[in-house]
This record gives sequence, C-alpha cells and structure tokens, in this order.
Amino acid sequence: IRPLAQADPEVEQAIAQELIRQQSTLEMIASENFAPAAVMQAQGSVLTNKYAEGYPGKRYYGGCEHVDVIEQLAIDRVKALFGAEAANVQPHSGAQANAAAMFALLEPGDTIMGLDLAHGGHLTHGMRINFSGKLYNVIPYHVSESDLRVDMAEVEALALEHRPKLIVAGWSAYSRHLDFAEFRRIADLVGAYLMVDMAHFAGLVAAGLHPNPVPYADVVTTTTHKTLGGPRGGVILSKEQYARKINSAVFPGQQGGPLEHVIAAKAVAFKMAAEPEFQERQVRVLEGAKLLAERLLKEDVAAAGISVVNGGTDVHLVLVDLRHSELDGQQAEDTLHRIGITVNRNAVPFDPRPPMVSSGLRIGTPALAARGFGAKEFAEVADIIATALIAAASDGTLGDHTAVELRARVTALAEQFPLYAHLSQSGSG
Ligand code: PLP
Repeated sequence: IRPLAQADPEVEQAIAQELIRQQSTLEMIASENFAPAAVMQAQGSVLTNKYAEGYPGKRYYGGCEHVDVIEQLAIDRVKALFGAEAANVQPHSGAQANAAAMFALLEPGDTIMGLDLAHGGHLTHGMRINFSGKLYNVIPYHVSESDLRVDMAEVEALALEHRPKLIVAGWSAYSRHLDFAEFRRIADLVGAYLMVDMAHFAGLVAAGLHPNPVPYADVVTTTTHKTLGGPRGGVILSKEQYARKINSAVFPGQQGGPLEHVIAAKAVAFKMAAEPEFQERQVRVLEGAKLLAERLLKEDVAAAGISVVNGGTDVHLVLVDLRHSELDGQQAEDTLHRIGITVNRNAVPFDPRPPMVSSGLRIGTPALAARGFGAKEFAEVADIIATALIAAASDGTLGDHTAVELRARVTALAEQFPLYAHLSQSGSG
C-alpha cells in the first residue's frame, strides 16, 4: 500500500498547500469551521469501503453489523442533542437533506414559501433554477425595508393569499433570530407544514445559545459542517409521524449507499457537541461576532459609508452593509483576502449592485473560535478588518504599507493559535 505522497504527489501537494493556507490565514467564511482531528479520523477510516443501502437493522447488503452500530449512535446522539423524535443522518449534504424533506412532504407543483435568496435565503428554499424552484410553485417572502428583519406580516399575508403546503424558515445570510412560534402559528392558520433549515445556527442551538426550532417545526434540516463543526453532510430531524416518509425519500428516493465514513464522523461530532468544551466555544463564537459588529458600527467606519445590516447580530455572523460606500463587495472581499482574512461577498437586501459584485460581506466567527480565539483576539481581528475596509473605501485599494502592516497582525494571530499541528508534522494533510 503506497502512501498518498507516492501514489499521487500532485494531489498530496495541493492538500499540503491547503493545510498551509488554513493554518496561515484567518478563516471567516460564516459557513465554514475546522473539524476536530477525531472527526477527520473517523471520516478517513475503513468505513469508506462499505456499502450499506437501507437503515440500521434493515440493510440490503451483508457485513453491516458494525456500520449499524455507528449509524444508530449517530441517530440517537443527534436526537438527544436537539430533542427530536426522529432523525435521518444519511443526506450527503444540506441541499440533499432539503430535497429529501420536500420530496417526503410535497408533490411537484405544490406551493412553498421561503425567504428570498436576495434577502438571505438559501438556493434550496425556492431559487428559480434550483430543484426547489423548478419542482414547486415558490412564493418568496422578504425582510422589511425599514429594519431588514423578516417581515412576519408579509409572511402571514402571503400565506393567507397563496395557501402554501410548506413554509420554510431558515437562512444563509441573516443575523437575527427567527420567530419560530410565529411561523408555527401562520403555518397552522393555512394548514401548511413548517420546515426549519437550521444549517447555519445548529451549533448555537446545540449549545443552548439560540432558540431551538425542533419543538415548533414538523421537520428540521441542517448541515453538520457549519457552526456544528462536524464533517460535510446533512441531517433531517422530524416528528415521528413523518419519519417513515422521510427515510424512504432519502433512500431509495434520493440516494443509494449512505456514506458510513461521514456518518461515523457525524456521530463523533454530535458527541462532542454535547460536551462542555463545545458550549464554551459557541459562547466565544457569539462574543466574537458581537465584538466585530460593535467595531464596524463605530464612527470611523460609518464615515466610510460602511455599516452593519440589522445594526448588530444575535448569531455567528455579521453582514457588512456597503450599499452606501464607494467600496463594493468584490473589492472588500479582495481587500481582506490580500491581508490573509478569508470572507465572502454577499448580496444584502435591497442591494443596488449585481449579485456577482454585491454590496455586502458575510463575516463569521465559528472557525476562529474553533482555533481558540477569545474576546481579545476577536477585538484585534475586528480592528484589522475595520482598518482595512476604511483604508480601501477611501483609496479604492489598500496602500502597500498598510497591507503589509495588517498582514503582519494577521500572521501574529494565526501563529498564536496553531491549527492541525499534528498534520504538519506528518507532512500530509
Ligand atoms: N441550507 C442552508 C441554510 C445553507 O446555508 C446551506 C449551505 O450553505 C445549505 C442548506 C446547503 O448545504 P450543502 O452545501 O451541504 O448542500
């Protein structure tokens, strides 16, 4: 058996370079995180080799006695973590979890409601060329122009007018809590299912730092790799009465063999998410986001036409509002990239610029909290970001001197919190 470096030096080299990139820059993409070594170990295991179509105890393949133990652990742990009646841990991704949940509850042509993509919703909540937009009749709801919060009066009015079969509550770019009780009331008013997609904030829910949608929703979907900090994948939680339909929508409805190596990594992540260290880390996630929002609301930033959507945050991310700045989303993303901070540009509601340029940045704190950052380091990152954006807004770009200075501050932080040191030593990612 040849090691990767011998079998495929090109891929090995690219992985080694990616490890260095992750170690030497500050990762602030709100949907990313650093999986613990134990999670990656489970995912890189011999389970890679196993076919296991079906569910624990009811497989279409032999030799499933050990993967059955693992998948049942994952199911039991995620149910306990969120207080759910039933769980399916097989979806390969968040998008597939949403597709399977909708497949279980809806017929093609049914009406669904979801938060407009341009206002912070996800592709799978009804975007035109996504499966959700093609299969279903989509009525998008929005945030209100006055406070940029989800407009529950509009949700109710649209629901009464269009009588959807399913209402999706959830987001990819939004910084406040949703009112799950109010969504439930509106869904009941028109006899709709309520599905909450908690992909972004699941880790905060697990830590008890965000309202839990499970008691309110018929179905709750999530990814396992965002705030939850596990392997890339999806999960569907539901009331017991929908479990059979959902299981059949995932397999054989949507997928063939489950990725048991990923399911093992999910099981590890769910165990870790119930431990005190995880809770303490999520406290730092929220603290970091609050400090960042506070810094970006100061006068020197405001003078550059830069602000924060919603005037702050309740979650793990801050949406920077560049609608009134000379600096656009693309320039802002490039500016931070140049000094070693990775973020993504993002449309903000009522964005005057086209989506590829956009007038926003989405900046998240989960990955840096996983690295060990606390209040002091988050305050420093916030100041680096503010300084870079102000400088870029006034000159259109960062001067070389400022860029070098800010990059040095980034490097100092990265070096203070080493990442995956054991992988550097082994010489392979
Ligand atoms: N749901 C929400 C709210 C998301 O933000 C995302 C990903 O960004 C997804 C679903 C899709 O997850 P995946 O990329 O694993 O398909």
